[in-house]
Order: sequence, then C-alpha cells, then structure tokens
Amino acid sequence: MTTQVETKLRGPDAFVLARRALTEMESAGIWPTPLNFELWLHYLGDPEGALAREITRLLDASDAFTEGTAEMLAAEYLPRGRLSEEIRDAGAVLNRELTSVSDAIAAAQKSQAAYGVTLADASANMTKADAPANLQQVVNGLTVATSKVQRENATLERRLESSTKEVARLREHLEQVRRDAMTDALTNLANRKAFDEELLRACDQADKDHSDLTLAVLDIDHFKRFNDTWGHQTGDQVLRYVASVIGRISKAPRVAARYGGEEFAIIFPGESATVVEEALNAIRVEIGSRALRRRSTNDELGAVTLSAGIAQFRMGETGSSLLDRADEALYAAKRAGRNQVCNAESMAAAA
Ligand code: GH3
Ligand code: MG
Ligand code: MG
Repeated sequence: MTTQVETKLRGPDAFVLARRALTEMESAGIWPTPLNFELWLHYLGDPEGALAREITRLLDASDAFTEGTAEMLAAEYLPRGRLSEEIRDAGAVLNRELTSVSDAIAAAQKSQAAYGVTLADASANMTKADAPANLQQVVNGLTVATSKVQRENATLERRLESSTKEVARLREHLEQVRRDAMTDALTNLANRKAFDEELLRACDQADKDHSDLTLAVLDIDHFKRFNDTWGHQTGDQVLRYVASVIGRISKAPRVAARYGGEEFAIIFPGESATVVEEALNAIRVEIGSRALRRRSTNDELGAVTLSAGIAQFRMGETGSSLLDRADEALYAAKRAGRNQVCNAESMAAAA
C-alpha cells in the first residue's frame, strides 16, 4: 500500500493529490500539521486501504481529531510507525524474558542458600550422632533437600532454555525489521538511509587504508516522459528491471542503492574510476539495447537509457563531497546529451 502512495507522490497527479488533501483537511476542520498532511496523503492516495477506512470511520463518528488521534493512526498505519511499534514490541518481549530469567535465578539462589543451611545442620547433627537411628534421620533429610534442589535446578534450566529460544527468535525478527528498514520496497536494493551509512563507512575505510574507492550515481533518462506515455505501473516495472541489472553487477563489497525516485548509486570499494567507468558503460549498453515490453499487454515500449556520473574518493574528503562530485559528473552527462557515463576525474583533467 505504502509504495503505491509513494509512487503516486512522484507521479503526474502528485500535486492534484496534495491539493486535494489540503482541501479535504480544511473542510473537515483538520489542522494542516505535517503529520496530518502525511496521513491525508496516504488516506486519499490509497482510498481502499485500512488507514482510509479508519479515518472515514472517525470522521463519520465526528470524533474530535486530536494530535493524539493522529499519532495513534501514524503508529498504526504509516510505515515509520510500524517500525517503531515493532521495536516497542520487541522491547516488551525482551523485558518479559529478562524478568522471567532473573526471577528464576533469584529463586534458585534462595533454594541453594536453604540447601547450604540444611547441609550445615546435617553436619552439626552428625558430629553429635549418638545413635544410628539419628544418622538415618539426617540422611533422609539430606535426600529430601537434595532432590528439592535438583527439581529447582531443572526448572531453572528449562526456563533459561525457553528464554534463550525466545530471545533468539526475537533477534531474528529484529534483524528482519532492520533489513526492511534499510531496503527499498520497490526494488529490494538498499535504500537511501542504508546507502548514506555505507558511504560514510566506505570513505572512512578508504581513508584509513589509503585504498581506492569510487562512487557512481545513475539516473534514468527522460523517465518522466516514459511515465507520462506508459503509466506509472509500467514505470515501476522498468525501475525494477534497471535495479535488477544494477544489483547483478553489485555483489559485495560493492553496494547498490535506489537513491531517489529514478536515481541509483553504487559504491565500489577498492576500485578506481577507470575500472568503474567500464563496468557502468557495460550496463548502460545492456539496458539501452533491451527492447522493453509491457508485461500485461506485451506492448513494445522501446528502450530506456541511463546516464551516470562517477567520482573517485580523494583522501580526507567527506562522503557528501564525493557524492556532490559524482552528481556534477551526472549532470555533465545529462548536458552532453544523456545515455553516457561521465567521469569526474577526466573532467578535472580536461579543465
Ligand atoms: P532526466 O533525463 O533529466 O533525468 O529527465 P527525467 O524525466 O528522468 O527527470 P525528472 O527529474 O524531470 O523526472 C523524474 C521522473 O521520474 C518523475 C517521475 O515521473 C519519475 N519517477 C520518480 N520516482 C518514480 C517511481 O517511484 N515510479 C515511477 N514509475 N516513476 C518515478
Ligand atoms: Mg532524477
Ligand atoms: Mg531522470
């Protein structure tokens, strides 16, 4: 649902949707706070969705739409809200498991202490053992105390085992949530947030090791025209196709991301701009020569082309400066007529 709205917000009707949201908010007496606006964009962008049903219900019931209401809806229905809710839930489970384990440990400590007292008493009784009958009694007492402590240890073990399992399950789930938060839902490539983190890390590493590092930014040419001609759903299919080619050449340690709407970025650790230029030209040619067809109707759509800019890391430079230089190279490629790769290093040499 959410990706669909995100796509609409970059499509031909984006401003129509945004204006409608404001108009409808005004007539329903909803303040145009950023959160309310976001909710209304999702509400109108996906009128069949769960959020829309809930907002319709609230408006029909003429309940007051307070900031609390908005926050609750956001937590329940907006993607960011879902993420923080997952983390809250995980925190609650972890809390429960830790409480259960620490209760079990406290109980075990108590019973071990009691067992210690029993042993001490037994030893005192044995030194004054006057008759075999009394010795028998001491041994019986010890047997009872020992099996009690064994039972309690077994309980502790079981509890620890089940908590360990639960915590492992939780860890796996959180790992999945973390991966989702770092992944672009449409293309399955890394998203911008993940990419920004990776770029920082890669620059630090290159600085430390004095190793090569090259960054490429890629942008589909005239994609607005493509969408206007063939529609956004077909546009989305093309984004997936381009992403799949980019993903295929971006095996670790390379990292590829969808950086924005129809923009991609690839980090090439340990590789020079010259080598990267060749790799990018290869995928540029591959994508540009592929005759695309619409899946549903088999209509011929022609080909899409890509422009790319690349820049090689300079020692001491920040990630954002590297990104700026790659972006400048991309714009140079666009200015020079698109469907080409421009290398910031050769631009600098020529200047
Ligand atoms: P240029 O060659 O200069 O890059 O032209 P362009 O039309 O590709 O660039 P512009 O920035 O003007 O427009 C980008 C277009 O990309 C606008 C929008 O239609 C499309 N777009 C962005 N994100 C998405 C998306 O998620 N799905 C689809 N289908 N289209 C998108
Ligand atoms: Mg663009
Ligand atoms: Mg473009």
